[in-house]
Amino acid sequence: MIRNRPCRVLLLASLALSVATFGAAAVRAAVPPGHKIRTATDKVEATDDNLEEAFARASDDAKGQRAKWQGKSFEEFEKSVYKEPFEGGKYIVSGDVAIPDRAQLEAFFRAFIQAEPPKGLIVHTVNGEDAVWAPAEKQKITYCVSTAFGGRHAAVVREMEAATRAWEAVALVDFTHVPAEDASCTASNTKVVFDVRPVNEGQYLARAFFPNEARPSRNVLIDESSFGLDPAGKLQLVGILRHELGHTLGLRHEHTRPESGTCFEDSDWRPLTEYDAFSVMHYPQCNGGGDWVLTLTDDDERGVACLYGAAPGVPFDASSCPAAPPSAVSGAPSQP
Ligand SMILES: [Zn+2]
Repeated sequence: MIRNRPCRVLLLASLALSVATFGAAAVRAAVPPGHKIRTATDKVEATDDNLEEAFARASDDAKGQRAKWQGKSFEEFEKSVYKEPFEGGKYIVSGDVAIPDRAQLEAFFRAFIQAEPPKGLIVHTVNGEDAVWAPAEKQKITYCVSTAFGGRHAAVVREMEAATRAWEAVALVDFTHVPAEDASCTASNTKVVFDVRPVNEGQYLARAFFPNEARPSRNVLIDESSFGLDPAGKLQLVGILRHELGHTLGLRHEHTRPESGTCFEDSDWRPLTEYDAFSVMHYPQCNGGGDWVLTLTDDDERGVACLYGAAPGVPFDASSCPAAPPSAVSGAPSQP
């Protein structure tokens, strides 16, 4: 039986959003004494400085999170969890993890509370098998971009193309935008592998899915807050999408590895490279070495090539790759 794992979303998402959309009074209340407080306006912009402040607070929160739920019931935990209030809506936990259904929410709760950090770019595994696109699917990853983005539609199309190119340039994968499906770009559109849609829920900047998930769960959702980022800041939509598309290829958060010393999620993964604090899949605020530009590192490029093969013309030594499990899981193809 294939067990879906929660799909990962950008932690910075919910955090950035809290900075981007909280009223100034809320931000003042949340900032410990001594922290710089931004000008009192209706909204506080998601500048790099503001993001840093929010992430510092969230990192402290994360440390206490496991302790907080020790001894508590799943029902208590469930009540605290936000659920997206639309068709196919997922549970959002810890601000950054989207979980398709209640059974998996409970599994997450058990693992989150009980699991210990493992010893060890990483790929998501399901019962010991890689969650990746099958060879017949990896170069046919089609998507639509909903026309519900309105005046931002062209920009989202452009940023998705730029972000997909970053992965296509190094690995034997191919994402294809299907403009003909943009006007009917829903979670139930089976003419594409996944959909890209806007949301305005204030819970994250964006969220994605893993290859083993079924069609209705295969969405890249971009929150309204992603369009309110400081144009002069490092964090931009294209970087967010590079990170999210890493998840759609089966890649997990690098910071769940023990070397990060924080932000542990679970142990359902196997390493593709040595630990890389600069990975596009590593949140900077989880003791990461990179910044909010969120670009692919050499290890990211090598790791994804280990999974899917290298893009044509890219020098690559497959002998450096760790041995892969004998089989893999992927979602049912949505196209013939
Ligand atoms: Zn993520």
